[in-house]
Amino acid sequence: MTITNQNLTGSPELLPLTNWAGLPDGSHFVQFYDNDAFLVQSVREFIKPGDVAIIIATPEHRARLEEDLQIDGLELPDARAQGRYIALDSADTLNLFMLDGLPDSDRFFEYLGGLIIRASVGRSDVRIFGEMVAQLWAEGNQAGAIRLEQLWNDLSRMLSFNLCCGYPLNDFQGDAQAEAFSQICGQHSGVLPTESYALLESADERLREIALLQQKARSLEAEIEQRRKAEHQKDELIGIISHELKTPVTSVKGYTQILQKRFRKTEDMHSAALVTKMEAQLNKLIGLISELVDATRIEGGKLQFNPLYFDFNELVLEIVEQMQFTTEKHQIVVSLAETKMIWADKERVGQVISNFISNAVKYSPPSTEIQVTTWLDPVNITLRVQDCGIGVPAEDQTRIFERFYRVSGEGRETYPGLGLGLYISSEIIRRHQGRIWVDSQTGKGSQFAFSLPLKPDSLDYE
Ligand code: ADP
Repeated sequence: MTITNQNLTGSPELLPLTNWAGLPDGSHFVQFYDNDAFLVQSVREFIKPGDVAIIIATPEHRARLEEDLQIDGLELPDARAQGRYIALDSADTLNLFMLDGLPDSDRFFEYLGGLIIRASVGRSDVRIFGEMVAQLWAEGNQAGAIRLEQLWNDLSRMLSFNLCCGYPLNDFQGDAQAEAFSQICGQHSGVLPTESYALLESADERLREIALLQQKARSLEAEIEQRRKAEHQKDELIGIISHELKTPVTSVKGYTQILQKRFRKTEDMHSAALVTKMEAQLNKLIGLISELVDATRIEGGKLQFNPLYFDFNELVLEIVEQMQFTTEKHQIVVSLAETKMIWADKERVGQVISNFISNAVKYSPPSTEIQVTTWLDPVNITLRVQDCGIGVPAEDQTRIFERFYRVSGEGRETYPGLGLGLYISSEIIRRHQGRIWVDSQTGKGSQFAFSLPLKPDSLDYE
């Protein structure tokens, strides 16, 4: 049989669910959206007058929804007073049960379970619209969002309600988000696409749209593959060039040291001073080459680690002393907690500390202080480097840990660098099961910090 679009027109199974009235009990839907207006319209249809509605949303979405529900005839003050309409702020509600970046199951069940039980006494249908998951997602807390979706599913096995979650599709951009996107879809019993599909009225239009999207997906896949290959070739080239540069530059450095000794012996101090300057420049060059070599190793999964037990404070003091030699213009002030022996790659951890301090020197004006502080908690040791420099704008603060990322803007191009130091540092700390972060205000200074577990579970550097 030939299937024509005409045969298919009106086949309900080809259409996404738009009939909210016929929801099976315990449904947990996700509505993706491009425009707030579409989301609000969708939630407006989901909330049946007469049922109990619990809205956990942003202030803007709550305000728009309430306007629309009142147009539909909902007597908001009465519904509120009778507990048929409960509106909560998504950020405030999250704060009630988040613990160390993840939703705490006991607190979640106690608060939201209690709320649903109280709201449903003597009534039948409870419909909940929630945006807490989307908020966690937008903050970059993907693990927290997925955990919260799981908790909602657990709760729906104990209590009777229907739940609709709203996510802006824009928050899932990029190939790297594909896996996380399917995880989110997997947590829901139904997935509703954005308005670009959902608002198409006939099955024919929808099939055409699907065909178009499939074609776009194919060409994007081909494009991504091509770029991946080109990126790989570029990485290989950088790897080969930096490796080839390293050997001659290192031997030139050896010769400068011999020359220096000779000039000193003959008391030619002027030439000795010139050679010292030459060596300083060579050190910079060697530093840049090493960054390139490390970055290509990270990309190829070949960054090696050699862990050992070492005294953390001893390492910090050693690095601070070395760094103080490189700058007369800044004073490095140290304030250290009690020392600990830690199990880690000493050289690599030292590299992170050097990177923090050399950035503090580079990005702050002369005659300012750089403070190096450490502190302990029962599980971690933390080190922070604080400067009074140009700072990092809020929108760049997560991106500076990306490969080759440098903050752009007036005057910033004058600072030398490849944008690799923090990328390498974050990989080193991540592979030690630690955490790295920045707090900064433009024009006021920055605090770069990392913490390492005192007793890593098992350091397999995965
Ligand atoms: P770079 O070699 O460019 O300094 P990094 O990876 O070490 O590379 O840093 C990435 C970017 O982060 C820098 O280009 C700079 O814009 C910003 N940055 C890093 N440290 C600081 C700091 N202490 N103060 C201000 N900006 C900083």
